[in-house]
This record gives sequence, structure tokens and C-alpha cells, in this order.
Amino acid sequence: MKTNFDFLMPSVNFFGPGVIEKIGDRAKMLNMKKPLIVTDAFLEKVENGPVAQTLTSLEAAGVDYVVFNGVEPNPKVRNIQAAKKLYLESGCDSIITVGGGSAHDTGKGTGIILTNGDDITTLAGIETLENPLPPLMAVNTTAGTGSELTRHCVITNEETHLKFVVVSWRNIPLVSFNDPLLMLDVPAKLTAATGMDAFVQAIEPYVSTNRNPITDGQCLQAIKLIEGSLREAVANGHNVEARTAMVEAEMLAGMAFNNADLGYVHAMAHQLGGQYDAPHGVCCALLLPVVEEFNIISDPERFKELAVAMGENVDGLSTRDAAELAIKAMRQMADDVGIPRSIKAIGAKPEDFELMAENALKDGNAFSNPRKATKAQIVELFQKAYDAE
Ligand code: NAD
Repeated sequence: MKTNFDFLMPSVNFFGPGVIEKIGDRAKMLNMKKPLIVTDAFLEKVENGPVAQTLTSLEAAGVDYVVFNGVEPNPKVRNIQAAKKLYLESGCDSIITVGGGSAHDTGKGTGIILTNGDDITTLAGIETLENPLPPLMAVNTTAGTGSELTRHCVITNEETHLKFVVVSWRNIPLVSFNDPLLMLDVPAKLTAATGMDAFVQAIEPYVSTNRNPITDGQCLQAIKLIEGSLREAVANGHNVEARTAMVEAEMLAGMAFNNADLGYVHAMAHQLGGQYDAPHGVCCALLLPVVEEFNIISDPERFKELAVAMGENVDGLSTRDAAELAIKAMRQMADDVGIPRSIKAIGAKPEDFELMAENALKDGNAFSNPRKATKAQIVELFQKAYDAE
């Protein structure tokens, strides 16, 4: 547990049904003259969807803009290069991302290569950025990665299939928008995947070596909210209460991991995402029980606390047995929302495990895992996630 720490998040965070209306005025206050809107082709076309509502508000405030709609899931180096080109050709002065983690990371990556050198692959790591990014606001549409709040920018090198992270306080958007009404039409499968990502992002910082008293509270509250709302949000996407609770949870989890960091689930999930281009939340969910089972011996008492937050009855149980209940609850949540059990489902192949294990141990998220693993142990964890039934 850290007792001395800095706590990072955007300076302004709009939350609640309808807050998207405020983005035009905020862009004006930030003196944005021509933001590049970073989004994907699907969201751009949704009638009265997140992009349309953002543009309406900007137009009402008299703010000019240019739309870049080339964001891909697991955003690639080519996406940020294309966005940078349009930014420069169009004379933009700022960036507004509209979408899930992929849009926010593409926007951050574009900002990074505009001001810190053109080759982002050389900037992977922690606090590698010397210069500020252009002004950046993030409109979030999934619950979710927390990327609208974080210092992380996750990009895939399409040539090497390596997913890497640039972690810097300079990446944090100036302003975030989380309007649950923009998420009502997220399909059930995507709600499940993104919700499981938030769940993992509430669990890993709780057991991280970099945790602090503030992030502890955020993690436990996020877990309770997800326990109480994710199943309902998957079953009935138009339940505004469940969607709102999931947004609260994803923001809490985002703030928590932004400051307490993550662990091997994310370090290994990045390998699956990079290698097989699979949805990030699904990769995280598939690895969660296997990795946390491995982590239990680092601090069984913390896992018992997780079990309680997940609604398990631990009365009369030994600490170890109570800790095991947390793993059972993680598996149950994934089952309930329809996540498969084995990484076979995303095309994983055992012959890739050696290289993926090597790269996982170098990932920016590996260092705060509470139990240190050898490469052979990480290979074993991939194998367990492969054999899971
Ligand atoms: P995503 O951004 O890749 O979006 C997935 C799909 O959902 C897209 O096709 C998009 O069009 C669609 N979509 C988004 N919002 C929608 C809406 N409101 N309605 C209907 N469809 C919608 O998914 P994601 O899970 O939010 O982001 C995953 C990416 O974020 C991964 O690359 C992951 O590594 C990264 N990530 C980043 C951080 C960070 O802090 N930077 C943290 C966790 C994950």
C-alpha cells in the first residue's frame, strides 16, 4: 500500500444523462477553434448517436471541426498516422475523441505523434513523453475501458502484432464526458465485454503493489456497482439505471487503475489482443480467474475482501476458502454475461505462448502484479486459460 502518491485524472468530468449537450460550450471555453473529431465509421453514421450529438453541440456553439472516422478496434499505428495527416492538412488545433477505448487511444496516439516524434513505437513505456499533446476532450460511449480518464494509450503495431502502452500524465484528456444515454444501444455482447473490462480494472488495482487508500475505496465501490448492474445492462440495454451504474463503475475503476496500475491480466490480455485482434474485454475476462487464482497467495485477506464486495457469504470460512470464493464469483460473472471459458474461443494457439509470455513480462502493466512470475509460469497461465472448460 502506498502512503505517498500523486492522484491523476482529467480536471473536469461531465457525468449523467444529457451531459453531451455541454460539449460545444466547453470546446469554446478551451479555445478550440477546429478540433479533429476522432471516431469510427459506424458511430459516425448512427442517427442522433454520440457523434451526431457531439457535432450538433459544437455547431450550436459555433465551433468548426473535421471528422476522422478511421478508428479500428485495437487501434493500429496506421490509424494514428492517418489521423495525424488529416489533422495537419485540415489545420486542426485540438482533438475530441468519440467512442470507446479505441477512439480515445487513437486520439491520444495522434496527439503523441504530433508533438513527440512520428514513431510511437519508440515511445512505449512509462513517462516517455517530453511535450504536451494538443488540447484533448474525450466523449465516452462504452462502460468500459476508462481510457477517457487515463494516462494510458494502447496501440497495436500491425507489423509485429505487438500491443504496447505509452503511459504518461501528458495523455490524460483535459475533459471527459460520460453520458449513459449514449450507451443505451450498445449491443449485449459488447456490453458484456466492456463491462468485464471494467470489472477486471476494479480487481487488479485492488491487489496491485501500487494501490493506495483512495483507489481501494474506488475498487470496492466499482465491484459492488458491477455486481448489481452488469447482468441487467446485458439483459436489458435500455435500462437507464443499470447503464448509469455501469458508467459510475467504469469511471471509478478507470480512476483506480490510472493511479494504482494493473497486473498480469492486462499484461497477458494485450498479447492476446495484439496476436489475435480479439476484443480487449473478452481477453481480460478469459484470463481473470486463472491469473487471480495464481495471485491469491500474495495476500489471501485481500481476496477475501474481494469476495465480500462480490456479495459472497464468507461467514465461518477460513481466509483461504473465502479468497477462493472471489475466484468463483469472477467465473460466475463471466458465465452469466456469456463470455466463453477458454482462450481457444479467440483462436489462441499453444505454439504462441512462449513469445506472448516473454512480451507479457515486458508489458507496462506487469510490474504491479502482486505475485512475481517467471516466463514459464506465464506460459502455464496461458495454458490453463486454454484448457479451461
Ligand atoms: P472499442 O472502442 O474498440 O469499440 C468496440 C466497438 O463498439 C466498435 O466497433 C464501436 O463502433 C462500437 N461502439 C462503441 N460505442 C458504441 C455505442 N455507444 N453504441 C454502439 N456501438 C458502439 O471498445 P472498447 O472496449 O471501449 O475499447 C477497447 C480498446 O481500449 C482496446 O484497444 C483496449 O486495449 C483499450 N483500452 C485502453 C485503456 C486505456 O486506459 N487507454 C484501458 C483499457 C482498454
